[in-house]
Order: sequence, then C-alpha cells, then structure tokens
Amino acid sequence: PRNGSGGLLVGLDPEQQAAATYTDGPVLVVAGPGTGKTRTLTYRLAYLIKERGVDPAQCLAVTFTRRAADEMRTRLQALLGEAAADVTVTTFHGLGLELLQTYGDRLGLPQPLRVATEAEQRAVLEAQGLSPTQAQRLLPRISYRKRTGQPGDERLETTLQAYDRALRESGRVDYDDLIRLSVQLLEDHPDVADACRERFRWIAVDEFQDVDANQYRLLRLLAPEADARLFVIGDPDQAIYGFRGGDVRCFLQFTSDYPKTRQVLLRQNYRSTQAILEAAARMMARASLVPDRELVAVRSGGVPVEVVACPSERSEAIFVAETIEKLIGGTSYYALDSGRADGEERSYTFGDVAVLYRTEAQAAELQEVLAQAGIPYQKRSHRLLAELPEVEALLAYLQENPKGPLAERLERWAATTSEREALLGVLRALAAQCGDDLEAFRNELALRSEADLWDARAEGVSLLTLHAAKGLEFRVVFIVGCEEGLLPLTYDGRVDPEQEAEERRLLFVGMTRAQERLFLTHAQRRRWMGRVRTPEPSRFLADLPARFVRRRTHTVRRSPTGGRQLELF
Ligand code: ATP
Ligand code: MG
Repeated sequence: PRNGSGGLLVGLDPEQQAAATYTDGPVLVVAGPGTGKTRTLTYRLAYLIKERGVDPAQCLAVTFTRRAADEMRTRLQALLGEAAADVTVTTFHGLGLELLQTYGDRLGLPQPLRVATEAEQRAVLEAQGLSPTQAQRLLPRISYRKRTGQPGDERLETTLQAYDRALRESGRVDYDDLIRLSVQLLEDHPDVADACRERFRWIAVDEFQDVDANQYRLLRLLAPEADARLFVIGDPDQAIYGFRGGDVRCFLQFTSDYPKTRQVLLRQNYRSTQAILEAAARMMARASLVPDRELVAVRSGGVPVEVVACPSERSEAIFVAETIEKLIGGTSYYALDSGRADGEERSYTFGDVAVLYRTEAQAAELQEVLAQAGIPYQKRSHRLLAELPEVEALLAYLQENPKGPLAERLERWAATTSEREALLGVLRALAAQCGDDLEAFRNELALRSEADLWDARAEGVSLLTLHAAKGLEFRVVFIVGCEEGLLPLTYDGRVDPEQEAEERRLLFVGMTRAQERLFLTHAQRRRWMGRVRTPEPSRFLADLPARFVRRRTHTVRRSPTGGRQLELF
C-alpha cells in the first residue's frame, strides 16, 4: 500500500508519490525548480528500504556536491534511522574514487590511490618544461578533454600522454580520471561491472541535467538493462555546467537509451512565492528547453521582485547591506508594503539571506561593506579545499611533521596559525572522519569544494557564486551585478547564442533560489578587469514581466536602523 505502515509518504503530493514508488522500470522526473525533486528522491530511497524491503547496501544516490550528499544522508537518517548509514550517498567523483580504490589494481593503479591537487597537477606539467602560466592555462583544457573524450590538437594529445604517465608514476590520478578510469574499468572488466551492478541495484541521480558524457557512460555501465532500477531527476533549464563538459543532451537522450522509462512531471512549486516564480519562469520562457512547462506556485501572492539600479558597485553593496538591516529589523516599509505571501510570517535572520554573484571577484566589495555594517556572513567559493592556500599550508605541515596521530598534528598546526575558526572546524568535521588515514584526509580535501562546507545552520548571510547556489533555497536572495559583461559574462564583449542560453539558465537558477524576497541589482559604474566601466543592465532584465517586478534606483543615505554610517569611499 502506498501510504502504508509508517505513513512515510504523507510528506509527498500524489505526483511525487507516483514517482517515488514506481519500480517497474526506469523513472525520469523532469521538473522545474522547487518542485520537490530532491525531496522526492530522498523519500524514494526511504520508501524502498522501509516499505519494500530493499537492502540499503544496494542503494546508491548520486548528488552533485558533497554537501548535497551530506544533507541527503541527514534527511535519510531522519526518515530511516540507522539503516541510512548503509546507503551509498555520494557524488560521481566520490563513486569513482570508491570504485578505483576497490578495483584499481585491475587497471594497474597505485594503492593507496591519491587524487592530485591542482598544485600537484601544475607541478607535473612544469616538470615537462611548461611555464607556470602555460601549465595554468593548459589544465582546464586537459580537464575538458578528459571529461568529454573529445580529442584535442596534436600538441595537447602529446602533452596529455606525458602528463598522465608522470602523474601515474607519482602514484596519483587527477580529479577527472576518477570518472574516466572508472568507465574504463567497467568497460574492460566485465566481472567487475557485474559485481558493481549487483552491489548497486537501485540507483538514483539528482541534478541529472548537469552530467557530462563520461558520467552518463558510467551510469549506463552500472545500469545497462532496459528494466534498470534507475531513477534520475533534473531540470534541463537548470543546466549550468556546459562550460566544463556538462551535457544536457544526456538528459534529452535518456528516454531513447532507456525506452521503457516512465516520465513524471511535477508542476507544483513549493519554494517560491508566485511573484518570484512567475518572474523567473517568464524570463526563462524565451529560451526554455522545456517549452510547454507548467509551474504553479503553491505560495500565492508575494512581494514583487525588485530590480534596483545602483550608481556604483560600492552603492550596490551598500544597498544590499541596508536592505538586509531593514529586513532583519523587520519594522520599516518592508514589513508593511505590498502584502505578504502565504506562509511568510517569521521575521528574518541573517541566515535567511543569500547574496549571489556571477564571479568570485564581486565578493570583495560585498565583504567589505557587510563587515563595516557588522553583518555576519559566510562566503563559499567553488574552489576545492585542497586549493585553498591555508589547506596547502596544512598539508605541507603534515608532510614535514609526519609523527603522531592526525588529529593531534592538526591541532598543533592550528595553534600556529590565525586561521578562520570555520575552516578549522571543518578540517577537524573531516580529520575525525578519516581517523589516522592521511591519504583519506588528503583525498577528501581534493574532492570537497569550499562550497560543500556551506553550513545551513550557521548564522550569517551566505555569499555564493550563482553556480554554488544550485539546489539551495533562501528566504531572501540578492543577485548582484545583473549587467552586460557580467551576466551574461564575457571578457571580449561577444556572447554566442549557446553561452547566452547558459547564462540565462544561470540567472534562472539564481532567481529560483528565493522563497520570499528577490532583489536583482545592477551597477551603472563598475571597476572590472582593471578598468572603470559603465555597463548596461543585463539583457535578461528586459525579459522580466512588468506585473511582478518593481524597478527603482538606489541612493545612498544613512542606514536607518543601525545608524551606522556606511562610507562611500
Ligand atoms: P531544485 O530544482 O532547485 O533543486 P527541487 O525540485 O529539488 O529544487 P526541493 O529542494 O526538493 O526542490 O524542494 C523545494 C522545497 O519545497 C523544499 O523546501 C521542500 O521541502 C519543499 N517541498 C517539496 N515538496 C513538498 C511537499 N510535497 N510538501 C511540502 N513541502 C514540499
Ligand atoms: Mg534539488
């Protein structure tokens, strides 16, 4: 019975239930943001285990980031209790690492397997005679080459071969090898493939629109049959990783590769107010990959989306700070104007707010102004932890001080630095997990990005790139720098149609993170790449529907609540 014993599925609407409980073949859930895709996936696993007697050790959930994996595990724990620990919840790269650690000897890989950091990758290239700049430039090309399998020019191929050989001799693989070599492993060793299929009989993949060709191949190797117990969910309109090989065509091809697929559409958006959802959906409609999509906001009404012109990037940051103060203060016109949306009752806290931007470089201005205004924040970039200078220093320290338990050595290092408590905390949320296994610790650092450390419970405004905001939600969202040149991003003034479409999807992802309040700001003057520019508002702003949008200009004045003077320069 669907809603049997524990009433587990009462947390899902009927369409979500239909998706979660279907087991007669592959399922493809195609649905817009905030429709409960991730929630449905989590409940499905719980349902299979709790109500269908599936062995949790045979379940594999693939998420896009480690942080999403951790969050899913927490949710599963709440639904399932101890059984959740036996489910494999990981990323494609984490899965690859596990496969190569278990079966790497079949490919002649060194054990224990080490994932090279970017610094180590560069060193390998430099040892081949490349300058640091050349090495730096070549890495993304090598990565793209490995992700997509598309051969490059002759020079690249030659360098690549030498690079791979040197990497292997030093006992390492790189990040992209984790997927590529796993594919090779399963293709060349049918007995291993069989064992893996037996092990992961139930597979669920979140954010499927962003898989790249190799990840999709890996998935097909793990779940080859027509009756595969495969469950994939995603939204083509949120495909934002094309630049690094993500290929939304995999999504579109799924039903031909798995002809018995049941497609489920979810229409109800539980996240955003109607105003926000309509604004985002209309902006997207012009380039949607799901043209006749219907999205219905469960939360009717809401405050209009605000598009705010700011004289400069400094004034943009001040606008953000002032508005946050007003929202937290909760008394000014924000609480009184234009009505409320269903469910909007609590006052706001710093943790309810996110500021999203296209490029990392935009964060500095915001950090400065937020700090001046006394607003706590947590900034999370995409960079892998192992690439952070602090972490590189730690790894060097551990290498130089090889004696004693990992945790103790970490503490000794911590005592010598003025490192941020948050980072230290995480390095400790990790060393403990890895016990005394330094290799495992290193590998974790090489696989986790800083954004994976984003802590939903920490009390501070979140500063994130648009890419890092994927899958998350916040009551209040600011998207800054909605300007030509930044969004769509271009360094030479040109934007081809494919890029434009991806940038539009990125804005769509950003807008649909917002639950109750959404502000889109653009500066009329900005220092950008060493020059002062006067950018036009983003072309995408012109596609916002007037009915759900209010446009205005920001003027800097004294902050009304705190009385703190925010200096212009
Ligand atoms: P995205 O495309 O942005 O990843 P999503 O489709 O994965 O979004 P979720 O994050 O799963 O959406 O859900 C969005 C919000 O709606 C969450 O807060 C979730 O708890 C809530 N939600 C989803 N389904 C329901 C439901 N049936 N009842 C109540 N709340 C729901
Ligand atoms: Mg999701």
